[in-house]
Amino acid sequence: MARDFYEILGVTRNSTEDEIKRAYRKLAQKHHPDRNKGEKASEEKFKEINTAYEVLSDKQKRQSYDQFGESAFNGAGGQQGFSGGGSDFGGFSSFGDGFADIFETFFSSGQRGKQQQNATITGDDREISLNIAFEEAAFGTEKEVKITGIRECVSCNGSGAQMGAKILTCSTCRGSGEIHSVRNTIIGQVSTRRVCDACTGTGKIPEKTCNTCHGTGRTRVVENIRIKVPAGIDDASSIRLVGRGDSGLRGGESGDLYVHIQVAQHKRFQRKGADIFSTQEIHVAQAVLGDNIDIETIHGTVKMKVSSGTESGKIFKLKNYGVQKLKNTTRGDHYVSVVIKIPGKVSKRETELYQQLANESGIKLADEKGVFKFFK
Ligand code: ZN
Repeated sequence: MARDFYEILGVTRNSTEDEIKRAYRKLAQKHHPDRNKGEKASEEKFKEINTAYEVLSDKQKRQSYDQFGESAFNGAGGQQGFSGGGSDFGGFSSFGDGFADIFETFFSSGQRGKQQQNATITGDDREISLNIAFEEAAFGTEKEVKITGIRECVSCNGSGAQMGAKILTCSTCRGSGEIHSVRNTIIGQVSTRRVCDACTGTGKIPEKTCNTCHGTGRTRVVENIRIKVPAGIDDASSIRLVGRGDSGLRGGESGDLYVHIQVAQHKRFQRKGADIFSTQEIHVAQAVLGDNIDIETIHGTVKMKVSSGTESGKIFKLKNYGVQKLKNTTRGDHYVSVVIKIPGKVSKRETELYQQLANESGIKLADEKGVFKFFK
């Protein structure tokens, strides 16, 4: 039993025409045979996608499908009735027929009949990851990265023809760039068109193909590009560079480049959105008596007032010392959690002073033998 057409396209029964078209476009690009040469699984998938789309993109066919399922499309040769029980779905499943709407998708240059001049190919999207430092994320940066992409062949400007080669009319499609077929189904004659494989829809074939791209019109390149990372970008977010993916062909749209940002951790700072968090140790005397202390922030060192009687764990806020917000010009805040540092080792003099302090507070300290000492 074949899979449900809606399932194949990853849409629901309530999806709009537009949603179906978008879902189809995405899948068809991914599984297009041009990009998956010799991959049987992709080819099968591509057929499946096209079959599903051919039905779901047509209001009338979709209605029939919703009502009768695939059996609505059996009965080639004008046979009446929905007698599909047990018979395999055959109507739209051949590879050629599945191409019906390819023109709209990949060769979207408008009026039919002109496709051979405009057989455009859309470029694929690309993805890369970019690691940046904590400060670079906070303040923005520009990075140069190496990317691999498909670009129009410079030797032939995308024509696929060797310089000076004669351009002949494609004999397979007789120059039309497409191959027609007509089939009878229960809902009438269905005329389908597919791109001519021989000339990839251009209607022309060069006598000699370009040596650089072997006639494909595009080549794989490795190039350096500069990426502007805006201030305030967060870990695990992405930048989309429109048109910086693989190049299209013959005026076809280029894909986009998605840059996935990974922000390195900082030794002292944690970040949550636009706010920064850090911990600051203070002396017990500073906690008791209060002080003005130096705090390291991403904007430099600032003085922070620790009020007298500060308990360990208290959080102070340094307003506007956080990260620049992505969507406006304001900044987050910097939160400082103070921790009273208890010294592990003290000098002789400090010991005396602490003993005095204990005495002053009426605390009886035991010595290492467990014997209480009484201070004057
Ligand atoms: Zn070339």
